[in-house]
Amino acid sequence: MDDCLFCKIGARKIPSKIVYEDDRIFAFEDINPQAPTHILICPRKHVISLTDATAEDVSLLGHTLLVAAQIARDRKLLEGYRTVLNNGAGAGQSVFHLHLHLLGGRTFRWPPG
Ligand code: AMP
Ligand code: ZN
Repeated sequence: MDDCLFCKIGARKIPSKIVYEDDRIFAFEDINPQAPTHILICPRKHVISLTDATAEDVSLLGHTLLVAAQIARDRKLLEGYRTVLNNGAGAGQSVFHLHLHLLGGRTFRWPPG
């Protein structure tokens, strides 16, 4: 997608602090971190949201989750961490390219805001 911010970040057309990438996904530091660790993990495929994902994306979504867990292990987020996937504007999604937030390094409350 030519006009998608996260497609551009994945293609390195817009600068970001990429912390992990492979042929299917990339992960980078959130520009407005909400915790000491705040990383966004994105499929390279332009999927708008979880609602738009299909059975074809099962492996891709699983891989996204497992990379989040690996980054958390690498960063020694031993007290726990949170993964968040805002789905739709009503849930706080502001960039319409599916991305998983990985937040860690502080305590989290439940229920989330
Ligand atoms: P969401 O609100 O769930 O769609 O999350 C979008 C996230 O993207 C927010 O946490 C923003 O801070 C982050 N963000 C927006 N623009 C950039 C950018 N250029 N580089 C890194 N993170 C960004
Ligand atoms: Zn995109």
